[in-house]
Amino acid sequence: MPGQDLIDLPIRFDPVNFADHERELHGLVATRSMVRLKENVVFTEAAVVANITFQRGMYGYPLVQGAVEAKVRMRCERCLDEVAVEVNPEISVLVTPKEDDFQEKQGEEAENLPDIHECEGKNLELADLIEEEILLALPLVPKHKDISLCNQDMIAWLAANEGPDEDQAPARKNKPFAILKSVD
Ligand SMILES: [Zn+2]
Repeated sequence: MPGQDLIDLPIRFDPVNFADHERELHGLVATRSMVRLKENVVFTEAAVVANITFQRGMYGYPLVQGAVEAKVRMRCERCLDEVAVEVNPEISVLVTPKEDDFQEKQGEEAENLPDIHECEGKNLELADLIEEEILLALPLVPKHKDISLCNQDMIAWLAANEGPDEDQAPARKNKPFAILKSVD
């Protein structure tokens, strides 16, 4: 299993210190505290894998770069069944203290700005930063890769209950299953 031999990464730390020491982290970030992620998916594994480095970036702010691997389950928009989704965003995030108002000073229209993560003082909550990057990477319309992978019974049931929609419904002439029908 991936992740089995990986260490748990520190939960919070001073990002400036990590940047000055050009720390490299490879390990697990618990999803326990990722409330917004959990609101957006059906299921998430207990941890995601992060492979990140720290260095000084723009204006000397700590720059976090690397990649994240997250495995979640979402609701397929086509069949409403669960679909496994893997996201592997490459990240490049500038960590700025909240009190600096860095983002406001740059203005909304500033181009070529890296992703910004604001943190409280010297405490970077790594899970917060990682969560934001995963949220950005989640598909807006999660779907099984191919309609053949969808739950065909659900598709038939939905087609039967929401009127004929030839694009969505597979060529299945049978009535939806009695069990599914009784849900109504
Ligand atoms: Zn589906």
